Amino acid sequence: MTFPEGLYLDWRQQGSAALCLRESRTQGTPPERWLQEIWAHQRILRDQLTTTEDRKLAVLHPGFRNRESGPDFLNAIIQLGDDAPASGDIEIDLVSGSWKSHGHAGNAAYNNVVLHVIWDPPTAEVKLPTLVLKDRLDAPIEELESWVGGAGELPSDWIEGECCEPLKTLAPEGLRQILLQAAQVRLQTKAFQFRARAKGAGWHQALWEGVFRALGYKHNAWPMQVVAEALPEVRNRPIESGSAREAWEARLLGISGLLPSEPRKGTRARLLWDLWWREREAFAHRILPAAAWRLNGVRPANHPQRRLALAAAWLADPLWESRVEDWYRQLTPETSHTDAGQSLLAALKPEADGFWRRHYTLMAHELPDAPPLLGAGRLNDIAINVILPWFWARADAGGENEARQRLEKLYFDWSPGEDNTLLKLARTRLLGEGELPGRKTAALQQGILQIAHDFCAYSNALCAECRFPGIVAQLK
Ligand code: SF4
Repeated sequence: MTFPEGLYLDWRQQGSAALCLRESRTQGTPPERWLQEIWAHQRILRDQLTTTEDRKLAVLHPGFRNRESGPDFLNAIIQLGDDAPASGDIEIDLVSGSWKSHGHAGNAAYNNVVLHVIWDPPTAEVKLPTLVLKDRLDAPIEELESWVGGAGELPSDWIEGECCEPLKTLAPEGLRQILLQAAQVRLQTKAFQFRARAKGAGWHQALWEGVFRALGYKHNAWPMQVVAEALPEVRNRPIESGSAREAWEARLLGISGLLPSEPRKGTRARLLWDLWWREREAFAHRILPAAAWRLNGVRPANHPQRRLALAAAWLADPLWESRVEDWYRQLTPETSHTDAGQSLLAALKPEADGFWRRHYTLMAHELPDAPPLLGAGRLNDIAINVILPWFWARADAGGENEARQRLEKLYFDWSPGEDNTLLKLARTRLLGEGELPGRKTAALQQGILQIAHDFCAYSNALCAECRFPGIVAQLK
């Protein structure tokens, strides 16, 4: 069974958000749904935001999608000018007048809205802080239509979806082809995002932001992104005390707001606190509120303090970026994914650190042996979600076809990552008890996630109005 190249891309355009966005826009106005996607993915010029009253706006966390009635995003954190960060909800409408015409003004559910996000500039005075999106997208609207998506939230019910049956009727090779095509879309989606960000911030800053987001894992990608956005400013300030690694740890943990205050003397936390104290004022405007982080349910090995300690080790290494570039340069068409994985680990593995070798977090009890800061699982995740798409984006931008193909070969061969809740959930909905077809690879996992994000994220637990089962059934 051989499916035409680009089949999944057609399906995606037929059945997912991409189509409903395009259909609606041809009628002249972008739909609210589209604005929600832009906001959820923060496909905006995040460092150039101002409200309609010309106050500087920083989005420290875009909030969580609200699937019930009420504002579109809950528990966001924004900062206006030099004000303290404010936590609250976000309402998204096409025009500012919708606030009144939709009845939000007198509705208690909207009392906690801290920002009204609209498409067109308001025509009358506004009462709420308001952001106009129209001229603040990070890429032309036509490009965003094709590639926005890929990180929406899935219905969290662990039940088989309607597409399970038609997918089971496909031969394993057919299912494999569909998943790999979806994985290709995922690679391009990530690459497109890197390219858009690189236009404004440069390729290396885009890479750092991708790395930080990956280190944020599922729950803390946004605060990690915000910390990464501070890097150009932080890197400009020379290190005056402590080793480079300790100084970077103090800075990252200080900016993140995750440094314990006034820790006991003689501890690592105290050492970092003393370093941070000297620089705190210079970076005060960058400090994140504790509410930006979700620490409940985070495994100790994934604690943001630990992830930031890894990032600090990398930032303290002046050769880190060139090491990544060298890794890429030594790839040949014959390099296997296992060799590439091993050489990437060797290039990125930080020197062992006495403290983090024995502690999960800054205040945790000492252990005989904690896992290394960078293990194979984390590296796999960074390789598949950041390093390969970032190099692919650069090769694509430079029209380097051979390099692009070499990277795709690695991407499609790369070993599978560790199972996580999101992946298990997506697999259960699409395949039920069924297995991934053929040799397990990271790309098959990426394909599963992409289908779930392209289709499940726009439906509900009962698969209402999802076109995917019907499209697959037509293949028989
Ligand atoms: S929403 Fe669509 S893609 Fe997701 S499980 Fe249901 S039928 Fe499958």
